[in-house]
Amino acid sequence: MRVAISACLLGVPVRYDGGSKPVSEVMELAGKVDVTRVCPETASGLPVPRPPAEQLGGRVLLADGRDVTAEFDLGARRCLDAVRRSPVRLAVLKAKSPSCGVGLIYDGTYSGRLVPGQGVFARRLEEEGICVVTEDTVKSCKPSVEHPVAIVLGSGLGHLGSLVRPVRRIDYRDIEGFPQDARPVAGHSFEATVGSIDGVPVVVYPGRIHLYQGYSAAEVTALVRHAHHLGCRDVVFACATGAVPGQAHTGLGILTDQINLTGRNPLAEWEGLRDVESPFVDMNDAYSPYLRTIARGVADDLGIAVEEGVYAGVLGPCFETPAEVAALSTLGVSYVGMSTVCEVVMARALGMNVLGLTLAANESGAPAVSHETVLAEAEKHAEDFEALVRGVLRLL
Ligand code: SF4
Repeated sequence: MRVAISACLLGVPVRYDGGSKPVSEVMELAGKVDVTRVCPETASGLPVPRPPAEQLGGRVLLADGRDVTAEFDLGARRCLDAVRRSPVRLAVLKAKSPSCGVGLIYDGTYSGRLVPGQGVFARRLEEEGICVVTEDTVKSCKPSVEHPVAIVLGSGLGHLGSLVRPVRRIDYRDIEGFPQDARPVAGHSFEATVGSIDGVPVVVYPGRIHLYQGYSAAEVTALVRHAHHLGCRDVVFACATGAVPGQAHTGLGILTDQINLTGRNPLAEWEGLRDVESPFVDMNDAYSPYLRTIARGVADDLGIAVEEGVYAGVLGPCFETPAEVAALSTLGVSYVGMSTVCEVVMARALGMNVLGLTLAANESGAPAVSHETVLAEAEKHAEDFEALVRGVLRLL
């Protein structure tokens, strides 16, 4: 996997003042991927040192008033050419900069104030369809003993738990809000493992409960709140789904977005809502573009066949009618299942970074699909699924 990275984040002295801004998490990532090092301001030929620059009214001005818009454009174009020569799918750029800033940049007053906006180079990368993040995203997704990665597994995918080097185990019945009477369905087990996979701290939840079993949205999201209390910032949700014909095929998939068709929402039910800053949660990019891009890159590097698409969560437990399958296809849905959507809402409310992986075990609407069929199909893809998750963990 090749990643474009701002040179100053890697410790190269290219900033306007002749310094750099090395970030250890980014340098660690750089050690595990192929790197295209970029600095559009250096590429423009601007001298170092020089006065700082900020964007104002669509122009780029140095602090001494000189208009350097043309130079910034030239540098961005030159770096874009370099990126195109060695195709990248991910760029990690220096936050707030008039060239590299993503989402927020300095406001042109040289006072340290920020405004919504894109750096000149960042905008060009996004127009190319490249996932662009700052060092803050890399830092926030970095696992540690204090911030293990939570992995919630669905039907037939629970054996990933056997990869964990355990430190301790937690009976689900000891998890606050998890129903005491819950019994696992086939393919699930109800004991979380805290430990590590390939040295990366994780908490693996090898099974879940579902709305269709009669549990509330608050109950089915108890594991997410538990993971958050344990310090997890990243959460991987894995689920079995049906592939909507014409939109996706059976096999592994990366979830890009979701449609909640369950009619339930944990934020409307959960009495513990006080732990959430606001119930009006932003669901844009609910599935982290950074984590999705890492997963895609890992799959391509390992030659694992993976598709991407929108997940629709339905109440279940019956499978879809032909009319429902046709409706889902019209809605642009690739995968349909009976879990995950409420969990993702809860995770986003708690500010967690979400990666959604699915095993489409059958075609949605296919006749005679049984739970056993789902488990058998999961078994076929178990090796690829494990390799994908391990590959993602390695890069975080
Ligand atoms: S923020 Fe971008 S343009 Fe500025 S020094 Fe760093 S890499 Fe170069």
